[in-house]
Amino acid sequence: MSQCLFCAIAAHEIPATFVREQDDVFAIRDVNPQAPTHVLVLPREHIESAAALTTAHGELWHRMLMTAQEIARDEGVADGGYRLVVNVGSQGGQTVSHLHVHVLGGRQMTWPPG
Ligand code: 5GP
Ligand code: ZN
Repeated sequence: MSQCLFCAIAAHEIPATFVREQDDVFAIRDVNPQAPTHVLVLPREHIESAAALTTAHGELWHRMLMTAQEIARDEGVADGGYRLVVNVGSQGGQTVSHLHVHVLGGRQMTWPPG
């Protein structure tokens, strides 16, 4: 069993609802959705957070954002607008130490975030 929750989900050791599965990137529905659409886009590779990204991850990061775009279109939120969130570290609100982009949509977002 993988030590990391999202590595375990990537390996199908823990169940999740997958909306995308590619060689390098996958996407799952958040177990505790904060909006009608709440999908997480993740790299298969274990990267602790956005703070651990390097220039070597440029293509991977690009594919993660393209996947987020596709999901927003598929979920029907692309035209109305949506929010991409990347929490970094403890004070940034990151609770799982495996890089993920939240795709949130289907309701009016507010600012500032909590
Ligand atoms: P963070 O707080 O690190 O930015 O986001 C972690 C997200 O993972 C949270 O929104 C939380 O609801 C979600 N999450 C935590 N455990 C699981 C799980 O076992 N399965 C799924 N699909 N999402 C999870
Ligand atoms: Zn991991």
